[in-house]
Amino acid sequence: MTLSATKSATETMSERRHLHHEADVVVVGAGVFGCAIAFALASQGRSVILLERWMKEPDRIVGELLQPGGVAALRKLGLGKCLEGIDAVRVDGYDVIYYGKEVMIPYPYSADEKAKAKQEERERQRPKGWSFHHGRFIRKLREACAAEPNITIFETTVKNTVKGEFGDQVLGVVTETADQYTGLKKADYFFGSLTIIADGYASIFRKEYIGKTPIVKSKFYGLELIDCVLPAPNHGHVLLGDGAPVLLYQIGTHETRALIDIPDNLPTATTAMGGVKGHIKNVVIPSLPESTRPSFIEALENGKLRSMPNSWLPPTTQKMSGVVVLGDAMNMRHPLTGGGMTVAFNDVITLSSLLSPERVPDLSDTVKVKQVMKEFHWQRKNLSSIINILAQALYALFAANDGQLRALQRGCFEYFLKGGNCVDGPAGLLAGIIQQPFVLFYHFFSVALLAIWLVLSSTMGSILGIWKLPYAIIQSILVFWKACVVIFPYIFSEIRP
Ligand SMILES: Cc1cc2nc3c(=O)[nH]c(=O)nc-3n(C[C@H](O)[C@H](O)[C@H](O)COP(=O)(O)OP(=O)(O)OC[C@H]3O[C@@H](n4cnc5c(N)ncnc54)[C@H](O)[C@@H]3O)c2cc1C
Repeated sequence: MTLSATKSATETMSERRHLHHEADVVVVGAGVFGCAIAFALASQGRSVILLERWMKEPDRIVGELLQPGGVAALRKLGLGKCLEGIDAVRVDGYDVIYYGKEVMIPYPYSADEKAKAKQEERERQRPKGWSFHHGRFIRKLREACAAEPNITIFETTVKNTVKGEFGDQVLGVVTETADQYTGLKKADYFFGSLTIIADGYASIFRKEYIGKTPIVKSKFYGLELIDCVLPAPNHGHVLLGDGAPVLLYQIGTHETRALIDIPDNLPTATTAMGGVKGHIKNVVIPSLPESTRPSFIEALENGKLRSMPNSWLPPTTQKMSGVVVLGDAMNMRHPLTGGGMTVAFNDVITLSSLLSPERVPDLSDTVKVKQVMKEFHWQRKNLSSIINILAQALYALFAANDGQLRALQRGCFEYFLKGGNCVDGPAGLLAGIIQQPFVLFYHFFSVALLAIWLVLSSTMGSILGIWKLPYAIIQSILVFWKACVVIFPYIFSEIRP
């Protein structure tokens, strides 16, 4: 055999994937997590099969704002270019509007950047997020995977895992592939030393491998506004008032996404009140900033109104052999803070470094992989627990439906108005830049104390209202108790092994 006729390892691996459907790793789902983990492992020299049921560009209302901590992770993975050529819009921070009163929450500099940045370079160095059409971003991620020689993508629907004859070890998956000419479906099999399942929020594998059901208490209804005039361009907008929160952020030069949170059994969204559209017309539109109303009304009347459940699913340690379930299939939080993709990309960095060929030469070593998954469960917490708890706690405050929660909501807004660390801290947590869970705890209880102070001062009014002190103290205790009830269940869900 001549030298040119000798097959390279890459060619052999590619042949094994194409002919025998066999690789080091089988990834289920070419969404946010699946593409990133496939790319990261392939970059380490692993042979990867990536399975996706629909290769057509997705058209969804999810995953449209990537926080700075997610952007940094994406770049670290070598996928930064996926943000280019998709008409993505820069995000500098948030504009929170509370009963018409505004406060700007810019993403903060990290301590290092603050020290080294010269005055004129500061704005350039400020961490940035990006928002975009989800489908375009996913197309770019899939293109990056398709161009990676160690990955082969198959368009096929995964139906089940394939287990060994003895024991529960997963060897791969069985799928259904539609014939491209006849459309007839036939069964296919794909085998890998490790199967990574990332089939998203409606995972068909969660029940068997995670054993938890997501908790859904509200839905986001999405509209696409054309040429909407936003109060603060290049900022995500959070609108707070009598109803649950509304988000507005640009996803392209001309397009703005509106996400309207509708809690279950909302009295203003019953059929008698005109349903969700009735709620939007009667409650949401009157509370919108004036400049956004024309495009919002136009989108409501002539555009598509689509919905997605807002789920809470605490993380789970993975103890199975030959398979792991990750991404939204394993862990979800309310999308209010736009943190899902940031968690996904950071998880990919953590996991791929723990699974590197130097640490785990053979991915079929189930004992080693289980050990890695245990480490992964704890290592990811510095970021994921912050994003999970923050999203859930902030949602409880922003969708306040009782007196104590409304007091905490007001406290939160007044806290932001103080500026300085009262803005930098929360913004850094939300951005995925600050990765110290204690900082979240500190800011949450600072908000609670400020809320209590506001309750005390507004109940008593002045020194003459001292006779109302007992009532004010009871109200304060109730607010503090509510703050604990809001945050502690989420903290406990994160510290479980
Ligand atoms: C309303 C809403 C808005 C959101 N907004 C944001 C945001 O602005 N920023 C942010 O960071 N996060 C946001 N999120 C969260 C974010 O979308 C998710 O965290 C992220 O998409 C999770 O990635 P994933 O890869 O786990 O799942 P997905 O991205 O959903 O990918 C799953 C993939 O698996 C494929 N698949 C499913 N079943 C099968 C099967 N049987 N066989 C083969 N393929 C299959 C699907 O087609 C899909 O391509 C939002 C979520 C919601 C609900």
